[in-house]
Amino acid sequence: MDAFSAAIDPALCPLCGQPNRCAMQAEQAIGQAQPPCWCTGVEFTPELLAQVPPAARRQACICRTCAEKASAQN
Ligand SMILES: [Zn+2]
Repeated sequence: MDAFSAAIDPALCPLCGQPNRCAMQAEQAIGQAQPPCWCTGVEFTPELLAQVPPAARRQACICRTCAEKASAQN
């Protein structure tokens, strides 16, 4: 593991650095089933996903604030 990939925290939004509160991540972290994640109810635009650094893609979820901000712009 290099220093850069070690910096990716799956619990933090790769765009703003705030906790993303992803239910799927929480499920892994605490080992208990969670209700469906809020992210299943919002739309992630290709423009938003393109802002995620390549190293963080498929590692860390975007937080709800960033997702709603992006969808409000459309
Ligand atoms: Zn965010």
